[in-house]
Amino acid sequence: MAKRVSARGVKIHRQYTYDSAADAVGVTPHTVRAWRPAGLAVLDSQKPHLILGRELKRFLESRLPKTSRKLAPDEFYCMSCRAPRAPYGAMADYEPFNPARGRLMALCGVCETPCNKFVSLKMRDELAQFLAIATRHSC
Ligand SMILES: [Zn+2]
Repeated sequence: MAKRVSARGVKIHRQYTYDSAADAVGVTPHTVRAWRPAGLAVLDSQKPHLILGRELKRFLESRLPKTSRKLAPDEFYCMSCRAPRAPYGAMADYEPFNPARGRLMALCGVCETPCNKFVSLKMRDELAQFLAIATRHSC
């Protein structure tokens, strides 16, 4: 697996040579050169070749692994845990917005913080196999 390189030390309004870019992100100049074929744009009309800080940052951030993933149907994203969680007690409340969609409300299974997600009525019916869903009739 490739080493993870942080873009945090890169100043977007600076221009970098291969050497100074290497210093800023903690790799060798050879590594920075090797990023060119991988998509790093380099100003090469004159010597030394320059890399715009903004471009270097964009390139490094585009290489970061995506940390987000889709929630499973019976998971809620807990803002407090910052993680997908199963609902506390496998229970949720459904509040319809319209005949087709509504909000599913539950408590985080770990920290009991309220969590919400928007689901279709069809999804609610599918989730009723796993969760005890109480429907609130607000209208
Ligand atoms: Zn939580």
